[in-house]
Formats: sequence, C-alpha cells, structure tokens
Amino acid sequence: MSHTPLDPSSHEAVNHYIGQAADIIDLSDEVRRSLSTPSRELAVQVPVRLDNGELQILHGFRVQHNDSRGPYKGGIRYHPSVDLNEVRALASLMTWKTALVDLPFGGAKGGIEVDPTVMSVYEVERMTRRFTLMVADQLGPYRDIPAPDVNTDAQVMAWIMDEFSDINGYSPAVVTGKPLALGGAPGRESATGLGCVFVLEAFLEANHLDLIGKRVAIQGFGNVGRHMAWELFRRGAKVTAVSDVSGGVFNPGGLDIPQLSDHVRSGKLLNTADEGDHVTNDQLLGLGCDILAPAALGEVITGANAASINARVVLEAANYPVTPSGDVALRERGVTVIPDVLANAGGVTGSYFEWTQNIQQFTWKVERFNSELRDRLVTAFTDVNSFAKLHDCSLREAAYAIGLQRVSEATKLRGYLSGA
Ligand code: NAD
Repeated sequence: MSHTPLDPSSHEAVNHYIGQAADIIDLSDEVRRSLSTPSRELAVQVPVRLDNGELQILHGFRVQHNDSRGPYKGGIRYHPSVDLNEVRALASLMTWKTALVDLPFGGAKGGIEVDPTVMSVYEVERMTRRFTLMVADQLGPYRDIPAPDVNTDAQVMAWIMDEFSDINGYSPAVVTGKPLALGGAPGRESATGLGCVFVLEAFLEANHLDLIGKRVAIQGFGNVGRHMAWELFRRGAKVTAVSDVSGGVFNPGGLDIPQLSDHVRSGKLLNTADEGDHVTNDQLLGLGCDILAPAALGEVITGANAASINARVVLEAANYPVTPSGDVALRERGVTVIPDVLANAGGVTGSYFEWTQNIQQFTWKVERFNSELRDRLVTAFTDVNSFAKLHDCSLREAAYAIGLQRVSEATKLRGYLSGA
C-alpha cells in the first residue's frame, strides 16, 4: 500500500519505531544500524504461464531480516501492493515479534506482487511452485520457515512444502500453517485471531475492564479478522462491524458472526450479506466503538484520518496498520494502541508450536495448543505493560524495546558485529 505524504515509507517507519525504542534502552549506534538493515534480500523473477497461454512475469521477494535468535520466520503475501520496501518492513516486524514472545526464531517476510484473486487455482499453484524453486536454497527447517499471510493459505503452504521436499526430501517443518493432513497443527489456523483476543483480555484485565458487552469493529474478515470476530462473539463482546475488500456491515446491537462467517466461507463477499447496515471501509474506521481492530492491510490509520477514529483502543491485528503520524495523533487523543508485534503474535507463536511438533514428530491436542498460546501471549503482554509503566512509554515503544534488548544481546553473543 502506498504511504501518505505525512509518513515515510513502511521500512523507514519501522526503523523510526526501532529508533524510538533504541533511545529508551540506550542502544549503541553500531547495533542500531545493524538491526535497521536486513541480513539478506532476494528479489526473484516468477514467470507464470496463464491458463489462456499468455506468459506473465511477476516479481517475488524474500527478505531475511535477522536470525541471531533462530531460523528466519515469516509469512508469504500475494498482493498487488507487495514491493521490496514493504517486505523489508514486515520482515523487520517479525524479528521484534518473535523476540518479544521469546520464540527461538528470527524475522523474515516474502511475497509476490500479484492479485491471486483473479487467477485460477492452477495458475496460483504454478506461481507458488516457481517462486519456491527460486528461493528454495535459502529456505529450510533450520534456515527460513515461511507461513501464510494475506491471500495465502494452507494449500499454498502445502505446495511450498511439496516443492521444497522434492529437492531436499520430506520436510514438513519447512513451512507452518500447513493442512492438518500434512503435519499442520490443530489450532494454528485460528491462532492469530484467538491470540488477538488473549492479548485484548490481558489488556482489559490489567485496566480492570471486562470484555463482555464491549463494542468491537473489525476491518478485514479473512483468517485473522474472522477468527477474532468469532472468539469475541463467543465471549460475549458485541462485534458491531466487520468488513472485507468489498466493504462492511454494521449493527450497533452486535452482528450475527456465525451467519456472516458462513456467508464468507461459501465464497461470497460481505457487500452481499443480509445483515446490518452496509458501510465502506473508511466509514468502518470512524465508527463509535470501544475497540477498533484493523485486521486487513497496513497503513490504514494515518495522521490524515486519526482524528476521525472513535475508539478508545486500537488493537493492531494487521501488520503496520498505524503509521508514525497516525500513532502520534492517536496518542495525543488518548487512544491506546496495542501494537502489532504483540497483538498478532499468536500467529507466529502457533507456527512455533506446529514447527516444534513437526521436528519432534509428536502431535499435541488443540487444548494444549491453545493453553500454551494463551500463556505465552499473556506473559508477553505482562512484560510489555510492566516495561511501559516503568519507563512511562507507549505499549509500542515497550514492545520494540524488549524485542531489541533480546535480539541485540543474541547478536552480540554470536559475534555478528565483530566484523570478522
Ligand atoms: P487474509 O487474506 O486471510 O484476509 C485479508 C482480509 O482483508 C480479507 O477479508 C480481505 O477481503 C480484506 N481486505 C483486503 N484488502 C482490503 C482493503 N483494501 N480494505 C479492507 N479489507 C481488505 O489475510 P490474513 O491472514 O487475515 O491477514 C490479515 C492481516 O493480518 C495482514 O496484515 C497480515 O500480515 C496480518 N497477520 C496475519 C497472520 C496470519 O497468521 N494469517 C499473522 C500475523 C499477522
């Protein structure tokens, strides 16, 4: 997504957030400079023969930001807005996220600049296999482990695993978010949305508030948004608005989330749903609510529209939904932002559980998965909340600072900066 004139590019913006946190923990200039730059960037050509015989040449990327704490880890996105700058920003976010939840992973991200929603399943499969081939020598269960992101799912992960395994032998742990029949973990699909709810519950409890009856508006009704809406609905929160790429629906009394989930699962968009009033995505952001959860694309709340946000809390379920100018404007208005690296960390935490089960060849029941997910996220929230109180800073600054401390310690211990 293109950035507004008020903000730097997404990678510069993430580096801005790194700089803010680095000031708080007094990080040396050397370490700062190293952690503001990815370790490795792959830009590859992805030729795809379309069903009509035409050849399309696409651009694909895999950016590996930092692996001092473990193998690179991060999703693969298929979207027309994907470019190297955005992938760099998202790869860096993964480094801080995995460190914050204390997982033995680093950070990476990948993607292809394409709109897969207009392609046939055969075209998407050919594209995925070719992309995998082009980056395969940098992937591996102990090297770099992709996962689903926008417009990629368990089927796409299955093709990546199959292509990688053709070259390297059976390797289920090379990707996470796989189908259950191929080593996927029960619980992984809902882990990001459920994780958002665990983090929100921890936040509300720390502020002596209750989730029941809280009005929540969610932008994005895909993997993250749909599971989050469902878990909130089950717990008695009022999900008053949800949207997808076509627009959204709004009911101040609370939407029927099971019905809307069925509607979307049957392949339909929300603009054809027979529920509540129809709203645009911009209108949804400005609706009066207790919690606003952007769960679609990045850079949706900026200095240009922050004044119209009518929520007390913004829960960053998507990656980088609030730009630096938006962040400042929300803070000035007293809106608390629960940052992406904490809010949506349930996804990579669930991926860690799947990876662990794959390499141990030992499966967990979903109850264990969800209970360990909750433990890890509540611990991360408590760490962030305590740090923020101690240093009188925002939750974002605290989350980045904790991630930076952990990564810089590992980086130093491994001698990355010895210059040898
Ligand atoms: P998805 O492809 O499953 O769903 C995306 C949703 O956003 C869909 O409902 C789509 O219609 C909607 N959307 C697309 N363009 C839009 C637009 N311009 N305006 C409004 N809505 C639009 O993707 P997802 O996996 O749910 O990911 C959503 C966000 O969460 C991304 O920022 C992603 O990086 C982040 N995230 C995902 C995971 C994961 O495990 N899937 C983990 C952490 C973070």
